[in-house]
Amino acid sequence: MLMVQVRMESNLLGANELLARNNRRNFAQRRLLVINLMSSPGSGKTTILEKTIENLNGKIKLGVIEGDLYTDRDAQRIEQKGVKVVQINTEGACHLDAGMVGKAFHNLPDDPLDLLFIENVGNLVCPAEFDLGEDFKAVVISTTEGNDKPVKYPLIFREAKVILLNKIDLLPYTNFSLQQFREDLAQINPTAPVFLVSGRTGEGISEWNEWILGEVRSKRAES
Ligand code: MG
Ligand code: ZN
Repeated sequence: MLMVQVRMESNLLGANELLARNNRRNFAQRRLLVINLMSSPGSGKTTILEKTIENLNGKIKLGVIEGDLYTDRDAQRIEQKGVKVVQINTEGACHLDAGMVGKAFHNLPDDPLDLLFIENVGNLVCPAEFDLGEDFKAVVISTTEGNDKPVKYPLIFREAKVILLNKIDLLPYTNFSLQQFREDLAQINPTAPVFLVSGRTGEGISEWNEWILGEVRSKRAES
């Protein structure tokens, strides 16, 4: 597994924009769809990725860039699923920026890919502010976090092209209000599809994966 160590730099958003544009150009050259996957810690990004890889491997070629503060535990889990993965350790930085992703992308093997997932650092705040050059952002929230997260962190939910509500199997054991959640999202982001999934049981994952395949197909059609 490749490791990229990145020192935390005070990267102005303006400088990040230039690097993001660069990434976007490189991604376009490789003709791949890039999804920036974001959530708070423990929402289940990696588990959803594992299930998604199991479903899509063989249908399309996937790669993963794993962002983490210090460890490579998530990257190890992804590597066991048989896809190419590059680890970024942010050394304490609470988000990925376009420079880190550019370096990591450089370290991905040259094999043709259809889809690249970037698992961002678990954080609902500043990752939303850093364009990585991705095609779009996907946000995961889990039922155990409470239904108030979209109103408390509106930016990340507004920026998402797609939203996953994870741990749907645990819904009966929480006081998460699905109705309130949907009403709040109707105000904050009325267009994003919402998939109800369980990374643990696999519920809803195939619907989410069909949606991704549609996105991969339309990306190919435009390039
Ligand atoms: Mg993870
Ligand atoms: Zn941050």
